[in-house]
Amino acid sequence: MFSFLLPPHLLRRVGVLGVCAAMLLPMAPAQAQLNHNRLPNLGDGADVPLGVERRLGESIAREIYRDPDYLDDPVLGDYLQSIWQPLLVAARQRGELTPELEQQFAWEVALIRDRSINAFALPGGYLGVHLGLISAVSSADELASVLAHELSHVTQRHIARMISQQGKQGPMVMGAMILGMLAASRTANASSMSAANAMMVGGQAAAMQSQLNFSRDMEREADRVGYGVMTDAGYEAQGFVTMFEKLQQAARLNDNGSFPYLRSHPMTTERIADAQARQQLLPTRAAVETTPTHAMMSARAQVLAKPGVDVLRTLAGQAHATTLALATPAKQAGVLYGATMAEMVQRNFGAARQHLARLQSLAGLELSALRAVRLLAAELALTAGDAAQAVVLLTPKVVLLASQDRATRMQLARSRIATQKPAQGKLAASELSLWLSQHPRDASAWLLQASAYELQGDSLRAIRAQAEARAMELDYGAAVDRFKAAQQLAHQMASESKLDRGGHMEASIIDARLRELERLRREQALERGIN
Ligand SMILES: [Zn+2]
Repeated sequence: MFSFLLPPHLLRRVGVLGVCAAMLLPMAPAQAQLNHNRLPNLGDGADVPLGVERRLGESIAREIYRDPDYLDDPVLGDYLQSIWQPLLVAARQRGELTPELEQQFAWEVALIRDRSINAFALPGGYLGVHLGLISAVSSADELASVLAHELSHVTQRHIARMISQQGKQGPMVMGAMILGMLAASRTANASSMSAANAMMVGGQAAAMQSQLNFSRDMEREADRVGYGVMTDAGYEAQGFVTMFEKLQQAARLNDNGSFPYLRSHPMTTERIADAQARQQLLPTRAAVETTPTHAMMSARAQVLAKPGVDVLRTLAGQAHATTLALATPAKQAGVLYGATMAEMVQRNFGAARQHLARLQSLAGLELSALRAVRLLAAELALTAGDAAQAVVLLTPKVVLLASQDRATRMQLARSRIATQKPAQGKLAASELSLWLSQHPRDASAWLLQASAYELQGDSLRAIRAQAEARAMELDYGAAVDRFKAAQQLAHQMASESKLDRGGHMEASIIDARLRELERLRREQALERGIN
């Protein structure tokens, strides 16, 4: 968490004890021991091992996954991945993403339900993006410029360098930071914080922020490397320029409230000069045009950020503007998608269907845009209570299942389960099994899998799937509890001769997974200092 802006939900969690007290008071022996174990060679500035940085990242990621503002929206998630993956490929080809780094770090991007404009890199290759950023950028290229910048902080090991530098100042500071985060994860369940307390924490967090910001040189390096990564990945350099202008504009207006990104990324004169030098090398051309897909994803992010009823009404109202028909296809798609979403979340299904019908009749949409429209149609059917219709809309006719994207698979599984028909539950379970065999870390898919098994009355597999979901969210304590419950059920079923051959196999998987998770939980407890 060095150097990037702490997301607001984590700020709330960095308790008084965690930040303030830990920085001022001498460390308790057990805590000193903990830090000694976790961060060897801190004092001499030697490289921080990848594994140490990764574990540090995991301890933060675990909190993010638990936060109600963490959002696994498969539609926006697929869109983010469609930008993120080419950046990873480019970084790999350029040699910045080494095989070791790639293998040891997580390279996961989390969506945070927050209207402010922010993106951040955590230790260990965990990144976060606020919905506000997706709704504020005008193109995938602008979003790519921010993601490439954050990616470069990780690949250039800025976080590790920061840890080393803080180590030179004394392991106390570094220990306090880790303890602050560990304390944050310990107080995760004590969410009822008084307003005064929250303000105090906010002040301390701001002080911590200034200590944790990257150096100016690191920011310039992330700009330079990120620029190379995004352009190598095929994004328009113009996107970097226009994003930079957006941030500069906000900085001039001193709009720090809605642009927390500016607090972690000050517009220094050096950065501006660098950006202008890069811009001068570019041929003069207009800003990158928004695609229908981006316009729709931007509108989706705006609605999912829960903007309040006034904004929802405005979004819906834009669809009635007489000039809309004259706008570009992208603009029309964005407005109609936003209007459909806005009416849908207000449960005005009739109005939502009208906007959707206009969206469906738009000509000239690219393939990814057509997919987004189809997913929206299914989402509306499901939200309005017609799960069977959603299944029909999503069931592939000729397309092989294997070629389906995650959003379609998740939405189809959700719709099948919502029909409450055991046969549909069976189909969902087998489709999800296929997906999970290739993507075993997908916590949301495991949760859907649990519901699909429940629908078939298969409690044993349902409980195991719940356990796997907790494990993938890095909550090993909760995972062990669920695996134990599954084990108990398996024993009971065996004693009543209710376990068939498949059931016996499942029981042995549960035994093995329980042992593994117990080991992981012990490690986690050691790192938290709970012995
Ligand atoms: Zn930066």
